[in-house]
Amino acid sequence: MEQALPLLNTQVRHTRLTLLRVLAEARTRIMEVIRRLARHPSLAFSGNVRESGLAQVGSEYLRLGRALDEWIIDLVKGTTKAIYNDTIKKLDRPPKLTEFSQRHLEDYMRIVSEPNGPSLAGVFSENMRRRDIASLRRTLIDVQRLGAASGMTRKQIQREMRRRLLGTGEAGPTSWRFIDSAGREWHPDNYLNMLNRTTQATIARETMIDTMIAEGFDLASIQNGGNPCPFCSSWQGVIVSVSGKDPRLPTVADAKRAGVWHSNCVCTLEIVDTLIHAEKIANQLKVRLPRGTDVSREQWRAWGLKIAA
Ligand SMILES: [Zn+2]
Repeated sequence: MEQALPLLNTQVRHTRLTLLRVLAEARTRIMEVIRRLARHPSLAFSGNVRESGLAQVGSEYLRLGRALDEWIIDLVKGTTKAIYNDTIKKLDRPPKLTEFSQRHLEDYMRIVSEPNGPSLAGVFSENMRRRDIASLRRTLIDVQRLGAASGMTRKQIQREMRRRLLGTGEAGPTSWRFIDSAGREWHPDNYLNMLNRTTQATIARETMIDTMIAEGFDLASIQNGGNPCPFCSSWQGVIVSVSGKDPRLPTVADAKRAGVWHSNCVCTLEIVDTLIHAEKIANQLKVRLPRGTDVSREQWRAWGLKIAA
């Protein structure tokens, strides 16, 4: 089971690269549209030219939104398959289900996207669209005002508009500041980085739980991934019943109540063999499980700390 974390990390790295490529392509196209607008001979002379240029920028963001949706679908497909195969391999016996069910795929998509609502990635690109269009429009209006106030000729206004639009540079409009101009590095706590990690971890966990249940396995322990996070480390090594049917053990929902699997978390589960880990299980059962619907996050954490210690 030592393999689970590297596999999840490999998936995270892989989809991160795909995402960076999607973003780099979108930014290049957006910059092309802005440059074309900047060089338009009627830029300063026609409001229609300016508005249709901005509309074209807008449609590139809508295209980015669709590309991000496809990226999420590919991520879910790739990770469910990889984690399913990996879990089966670790069970170390012929699987009951001969192959990964397509029906599951739709369920997993539902877990990561709002039914009937805009996708999380789509909300992100829509915010970028609104912010960048507004700032480009402001730039053009500022030049017009400056021109009117200082008595610039149309030609001078045209030159100044062009200069400012081209000044947007390779890094793109303001909303692209989270990513470097080469498109290879980004700010680690930017939203899409978080979305990538959190979605991967969620899909990996759900796939593993479903596969375990389908194959008749129930016990798994929580394993810290990446940097130790204060919430998950209090539950490091705690054994849960993934089906929720073993009353002696906490459920996956209890772990979440304790704060495990917060956003950006790549902590995972490790299959627990009831024979090999009999002593570990017995030790955990000695610490009484909090009961009732009003158990607080702090109580769950404190309980986990007793086990993890
Ligand atoms: Zn964590």
